[in-house]
Amino acid sequence: MDMPVNNIIWNMTRKCNFRCEYCYFPHDNTPVTETLPVSRITDFLDATGEQWVVGLTGGEPFIYPGMVDICAELTKNHFIGVDTNLSVSSKVRDFAERIDPARVQDLYVALHIEERERIKGTDAFIKNARLLLDKGFKVIVNYVIHPTLEARFHTDKEFFADHGITLTPRPFKGEFEGRRYPEAYGDRARAIFADHPEQGKKIAFNFQGVPCSAGKTLLRMEPDGTVMRCPGDKTKLGNVMDNVRLLDGTEPCNVKRCPCRGVDHISLTSLQKALVEGVQFAVVGDNDKASESLNRADELSPEHPCAQNNLGVLALRRGDRAEAVRRFETALAARPDHPLYADNLHNTQDGMHFDAGICLDVNHRHAK
Ligand code: SF4
Ligand code: SF4
Repeated sequence: MDMPVNNIIWNMTRKCNFRCEYCYFPHDNTPVTETLPVSRITDFLDATGEQWVVGLTGGEPFIYPGMVDICAELTKNHFIGVDTNLSVSSKVRDFAERIDPARVQDLYVALHIEERERIKGTDAFIKNARLLLDKGFKVIVNYVIHPTLEARFHTDKEFFADHGITLTPRPFKGEFEGRRYPEAYGDRARAIFADHPEQGKKIAFNFQGVPCSAGKTLLRMEPDGTVMRCPGDKTKLGNVMDNVRLLDGTEPCNVKRCPCRGVDHISLTSLQKALVEGVQFAVVGDNDKASESLNRADELSPEHPCAQNNLGVLALRRGDRAEAVRRFETALAARPDHPLYADNLHNTQDGMHFDAGICLDVNHRHAK
C-alpha cells in the first residue's frame, strides 16, 4: 500500500520517562495532563479530503493517556508513524496486539544505550523490539551517534545483531564542545555512516527563500492543538480545537534551518538539488558521489559559494590543500561575510589538521 505524501507531525508532549544526557527537552516525567480529543484531530484530517501520515512524537508518546486508543482511531482513515524509546512495555504489547502494521509507516525506536544501561532496561528493549518486528511492523532502531558514543557503536551493533536487531546510526543534531553536528563529524563517524547513506538525508539545510509546500502537505501540531506550517517554521495556521486554514500551494521558506522531512516538500532547482545531494553524500563520507554532485553544481553555477566551499572540504579530505585553499578563497570572495568559509580558509592556510565545515546554505548567492 502506498503511503500518503501528506505528513503531520504531532508533538504530543515534551515529557518523557527517560533523561538522556544529550536531550534538549526538560527532563519531566510527571503525568501528561495536556491532552487533545482524538476526534478533533481525525475530524480535521478527514475534512482536508486527503490521507495523512500522522507522526506521533514527543517527548515519549507512549506516556500519553490513551495512546493506543489514539493510534487505533487515527489508523481507521489515515496512517501513523511513532518515535518512541520503547520503554512502556505494557503499552507496547497492547499496541502490537491492536494496531495493523499495514497502517504504520514506521516505528522509529530510539535505543538510548546509556540510559538503558542506567535503568537496567536493555533486555526489555530487546524483547519489545523483537515483539514488534515479529508482528510485521517496520521497526527502525536508531542509535544517535553522539560524539561520546562513536567509539562504542560497533560493539553495540554486534551485540544487538546477535538478537536479530539492526542498529541504524542516526546523526546527532546539535552542539557539542562548541561544534555543530552533524556537519562537524570526523572520519570515525563518517565511516559509521558509510553503510547508511540514507542518513545523510537527515540534514538541517538552510532553504530560506526556496518555495515549499509545507503548510499544505507538511504540518506540525503542538500539544494544545495549535497547527503550524512545519516543524521548522512556526507560523500558526490555527488550532484543531477551533479552525485551521492550510496554505494553498507553495510559498518561500522563511527560516534558516529546515527539519529533515522538509526536503520532501520543497521545490528545488537543478542547482539546488545538486548542492543538496552533494552535502548528503559528503556528510556520510561518500566523497566520490559528493564530488560528482558538487561538480554538477559547479557547472550549473560556477563560483557558487556553497559549492565552492564544499568542493574545498572534499579537496581537503583527499589531502589536496592547494585546491582546498583555492576553493575556500573563491567561496569567501563571493560571500566575504560568511564565517564558515573564512574559518575553513584560515585553518587550511595555517596547515591545521581539522574537519572542515560543510556549508548547508543551499540558496546562497554572491554578496551584492
Ligand atoms: S527518550 Fe528521547 S525525548 Fe526522552 S530523554 Fe531521551 S532523547 Fe529525550
Ligand atoms: S523548507 Fe523546511 S523549514 Fe522551510 S517551510 Fe519547508 S519544511 Fe518548513
